[in-house]
Amino acid sequence: MIAILGAGPAGAAVALGLRRLGYDVTVVCEWRRFAALEGVSVRVLEALRGAGLQHALAEATLPSQRQVSWNGQQHAQNIEYLLDRPAFDRGLREDLRLAGVELIEGRVLGVQPLATGSRIEIEGHGVLACEFLVEARGRQAPASHKTLGKGLRGPETVSLLNRWQGTTGETASAVESLEDGWAWMARRADGQCYWQWTVDVASAQLPGKAQLLDYCSQRRRGSALARAFFGAGTEADLQLHARSSTAILSPQVCGDHWIRVGDAAMAVDPLSGNGIFQSLSSALQAPVVINTLLRKPERAALARRFHQQRVEQLFLRFARIGRDFYADEQRWKDQPFWHARRQWPDAEVAHAQADFAALRIERAPVLREGFVDEAEVVITADQPLGIWHVQGVELAPLLRRLAGEPIGQVLAGLTGEQGKVVRGWLLAQGYKP
Ligand code: FAD
Repeated sequence: MIAILGAGPAGAAVALGLRRLGYDVTVVCEWRRFAALEGVSVRVLEALRGAGLQHALAEATLPSQRQVSWNGQQHAQNIEYLLDRPAFDRGLREDLRLAGVELIEGRVLGVQPLATGSRIEIEGHGVLACEFLVEARGRQAPASHKTLGKGLRGPETVSLLNRWQGTTGETASAVESLEDGWAWMARRADGQCYWQWTVDVASAQLPGKAQLLDYCSQRRRGSALARAFFGAGTEADLQLHARSSTAILSPQVCGDHWIRVGDAAMAVDPLSGNGIFQSLSSALQAPVVINTLLRKPERAALARRFHQQRVEQLFLRFARIGRDFYADEQRWKDQPFWHARRQWPDAEVAHAQADFAALRIERAPVLREGFVDEAEVVITADQPLGIWHVQGVELAPLLRRLAGEPIGQVLAGLTGEQGKVVRGWLLAQGYKP
């Protein structure tokens, strides 16, 4: 039996993927302790649907026009979808039940690794033994064992979420940069209001817990955008929830009998609005990695390498995209919040420019027929882990032939559609016919 700790989007996506591969799966999860709205793009909704999480989306999404105020410029960006997390989390569990996943509602108190699996202690449910463990408890997952190293951590960041019942109105959301951080705000048509202020732990000089809610309200009222957004109505049942939003990459994300997925593997800065997307990305590949570890243990090293490299690469890409958003804000470059974030994690570009001459062929782990396997892939500046095929056409043999043959001859055996897509890919890599 495979045990999954956590039933957020990552745990749920792994559970459904494992069921499709025929595994018995038990998910252990307690409920989140606070209500939140989260903004996602259409791409995330499609990815959730693709993972089989239809119920999770049924009642949870509200389309909203998002306003952006950044670097002193205002624009109304495209539609984002507001995900009501309590409804979304309930829907995830419904999807799990329908897929035949056993669900234990309880708090995991501890996990003891064994030579061939793990023992899990669950509050009120005793001990559960499993052959394989999936750690998907999000940011609350205990850090990896100390001997595994430190991983990567961005500047320490905290997000203070204020929620209250205001007056009814249109569903809307907005994001705004501030001198010492940034704020995301949203209002549902029923008047539930959210203002989330993200600040630097080291420099924010926040007051003690008892004064924090008042301090947040005062800061919120100091913003013209927030005043216009929420209006002057009453604020009933005003609450505060603080949570860390530091970007964290776990030092090791896969062993022979365990794997970390979602925020437990890497948690990104909420600025990029990509949290759920990245948590799904690591979760969607996990069932094949687990299948390989359990059924083809001779490929264990390859499977672990596949998961580790992809998680690291995704983390760094999101971190660099976040850094570039921060760098776009020019007014407060030297303020501690902005100064630290405009240079983390490094100075490398988020998307490297195409360079056909730099393409090279390497053997690398790929996913083939439900298992991690090894194949020749083409490494590009922007895809350092390589690309195996495009539209069903393997790229490495094609690239080799291109060195000595005209492109027409190399693409001759492909269907019209394949030829078009492969030619497009080559041109995008800087190929000059
Ligand atoms: P989670 O969704 O966190 O699920 C983990 C589950 O494990 C939870 O149900 C939890 O209750 C359970 N659990 C934890 N500990 C235990 C335990 N001991 N025993 C049993 N169960 C346990 N993403 C977006 O896409 N858009 C946004 O606008 C956005 N805003 C964010 C704002 C902030 C401030 C933060 C911190 C994150 C935000 N995110 C956003 C990120 C998003 O919330 C996460 O990336 C996503 O939920 C991760 O999914 P997950 O399945 O890995 O973990």
